[in-house]
Amino acid sequence: MVESCTNCIMTKMDDPTLTFDEDGVCSLCRKFQGMLAELPGNKEESDKILLPMIEKIKERGKGHPYDCITGVSGGVDSTYVCLLMKRYGLRPLCVHFDNGWNTELAVENINRMIDILGFDLETYVIDWEDFRELQIAYLKSGVIDIEVATDHAIYGSLYSMAIKNDIPFIISGVNTATEDFMPYHWCFDKHDDANIKDIYRKHGSKRPLKNYPFVDARLRRKIKRSNIEVIRILNMLPINIDEMKADITRELGWKPYDGKHHESIFTRFYQGYILPRKFGVDKRKAHLSNLVCAGMTTRQQALAEFQQDIYPPSQAREDLEFVSKKLQFSVEEFEQLMREPPRRHLDFANSRWFFARYPVAKPLLPLWRRYKAWRDA
Ligand SMILES: [Zn+2]
Repeated sequence: MVESCTNCIMTKMDDPTLTFDEDGVCSLCRKFQGMLAELPGNKEESDKILLPMIEKIKERGKGHPYDCITGVSGGVDSTYVCLLMKRYGLRPLCVHFDNGWNTELAVENINRMIDILGFDLETYVIDWEDFRELQIAYLKSGVIDIEVATDHAIYGSLYSMAIKNDIPFIISGVNTATEDFMPYHWCFDKHDDANIKDIYRKHGSKRPLKNYPFVDARLRRKIKRSNIEVIRILNMLPINIDEMKADITRELGWKPYDGKHHESIFTRFYQGYILPRKFGVDKRKAHLSNLVCAGMTTRQQALAEFQQDIYPPSQAREDLEFVSKKLQFSVEEFEQLMREPPRRHLDFANSRWFFARYPVAKPLLPLWRRYKAWRDA
């Protein structure tokens, strides 16, 4: 019999590391409930941390064109963050990260929001050649978190634009209540530039990634010098996904997507096709379990919603052809990649790795690689 959590909709099949307590509640639920308990539970608790933060940001922004900078994707979280900033009188520079995969609906949602709120928008268009090569390397490497290529670059571009424009506050829509319920092995550290570089070195083309916005040691020093602070504003007030959606629909004419993060064609395909086929992972299970734990839906509703097919085979086929073509694979080559065995991120160099922690030892790296090749031969 498959062990299932009595609280959320996860089972041991989804995450073999799950354990269950005497009430049949899984370890992910317990961990997540602990994280939720740290968040403000009501307006009074929220005001105590949020209002001084808003004041601090406004004070620093006096005499500057912007108070803060924020990333906009057209998704619920970032759109709601913009609405909040308007309500609190903040003046953000909004940055849209364009990696070539955004849906038209996402772009429409962003433009409508910007028009209504009267904020300034800059679009950061990533060097497509660089980005495509990196995505291909991730697909070939067999690691699970292919989205690191996008998420890392979002951080890199935001940090760089914050420094360039002398804006010390990044307002982030990343939050615990709707996002932090995630089995450990379903994703990887988005800040680990050492991992990205090694995956590219081993599975990418020989072409150097000249324009990819790495958050590397050099940029990290600049971030520190510029005192850049990342503020997760959605962790500072009680949030409810249905209310957030209702607010942005009513006030900003926001239009919904079928799934979480389906504002990008690649993300839709990654979550609907790559993850289930190659890794046996259905992220909707974590998203829905997340909502159950946060009290935003019931277990019954989550189970019913999970049964709905939000990624029909015709859409999957269309996306498969589109993604393969855009990444310059044939459909057969792509499907072959899906059949190859997964690899762990930790099979590649990473920030926990000796040379990443002690850059001063880097001159010894070629010697170490030769020794490793000899040892593994
Ligand atoms: Zn659970």
